[in-house]
Amino acid sequence: MATTVPLPGVFARCGALYWNGIMNKEHPMSVITCSRCGGEKEAVTKTAFYRGEVREKLLAHACQDCWGEWMKMQIMLVNEYRLNLMDPSTDDFLNKQVLAFFGIDDNGDVAKVDYVPPQA
Ligand SMILES: [Zn+2]
Repeated sequence: MATTVPLPGVFARCGALYWNGIMNKEHPMSVITCSRCGGEKEAVTKTAFYRGEVREKLLAHACQDCWGEWMKMQIMLVNEYRLNLMDPSTDDFLNKQVLAFFGIDDNGDVAKVDYVPPQA
């Protein structure tokens, strides 16, 4: 005769949290030492389309303030180089650029962009 043993509450809860952690793309808030500004700040929690190893590095080394700067930089790069975000080679390019921007890896310099902000 089969019996159903209910999971003890604590295990059920841990399982739910674990699963939630996997499914929830937003990383929990943590304070890190930012590798760009050197400040102890809240780490970035969303890394846009950066994934895998690059995402892990950004979560551990990038603060939200500098991430905001990178987002502006990324827009400039996309415009300047007319990048196609659907193209896998764009991923490689931006992965290197973002790591160089944060000084995480010695992947070379961030591309120079001749960007002239629009006149207010
Ligand atoms: Zn920073």
